[in-house]
Amino acid sequence: MVWELGYPTAVSTLGNLSDNDRLAGRVAIVTGSSSGIGEEVARRFATAGASVLVNSSRSVDAGLAVAESLPDAHYVRADITVEGDPERLVAAALERWGRIDVLVNNAGTTEVIPHHELDRAGVEVWRRIFEVNVFGTWVMTMAAVPKLREQRGTVVNISSIAGLRATGSSIPYASSKAALNHQTVLLAKVLGPEVRVNAVAPGLIDTPWTADWDAVREAVRQVAPLKRSGRVGDVAEMVLALATSSYVTGQVLAVDGGLTIAL
Ligand code: NAD
Repeated sequence: MVWELGYPTAVSTLGNLSDNDRLAGRVAIVTGSSSGIGEEVARRFATAGASVLVNSSRSVDAGLAVAESLPDAHYVRADITVEGDPERLVAAALERWGRIDVLVNNAGTTEVIPHHELDRAGVEVWRRIFEVNVFGTWVMTMAAVPKLREQRGTVVNISSIAGLRATGSSIPYASSKAALNHQTVLLAKVLGPEVRVNAVAPGLIDTPWTADWDAVREAVRQVAPLKRSGRVGDVAEMVLALATSSYVTGQVLAVDGGLTIAL
């Protein structure tokens, strides 16, 4: 026990290590880690010493290449919306490493629909987006929770500022991320003290997903206090911080160059 300003502070097993071994000996599953934010999270975690289960639903070659480039990683193709696939991801991590410490729910989908084009946002679009961003994420978390409890582990959901403000690529997408934010908070309440649950809400990040969003990128440059779109490393840094912050749970943290305070 360390005493600071009269308050007792428990020494964290994760927080007091040097940068390169903050996740030493830990095992992480990162869904949708064949590209973009998920890939960078997998790379950042590996740099911090973690063993990483890399996943994607379709891009097998890219996923294999990410896993092969890391010191201790394994790729599994799985679609979080397919019955049995989340459990298969958990089983693959256990078979290889015998434990799970961190789950990063990064897999997500959208459809770009201007918000006023209500006819295009039919219920089938809502179903397709919620199937991945809300239901798939839920099932993935439920599959991992028993093992996360054993390790006093943690979940980091990749949400979006579209779930915090009246913005985003479509109304169904923004609504799905708002639901994910609330899923994060509600789960944090019931899974403590064993499991911490947090979310990162990125603003506009340069990834394959947003490669042709130049007009949006320019608008962000104009409006956001930090005057640029985000890099995958900006998000991965916060995911690592939340994964290793022993007294933070139930938080949704915007990583957006200040965009939400300017909207
Ligand atoms: P990306 O297209 O580079 O990566 C998406 C990944 O998710 C891919 O690996 C893909 O295979 C995987 N995936 C999609 N559906 C899946 C499923 N059903 N099962 C398993 N894997 C699946 O996109 P990105 O920009 O890196 O997005 C990653 C996350 O970040 C998403 O949840 C997205 O909503 C969120 N996000 C992105 C931005 C941005 O500006 N890029 C902003 C806010 C939030």
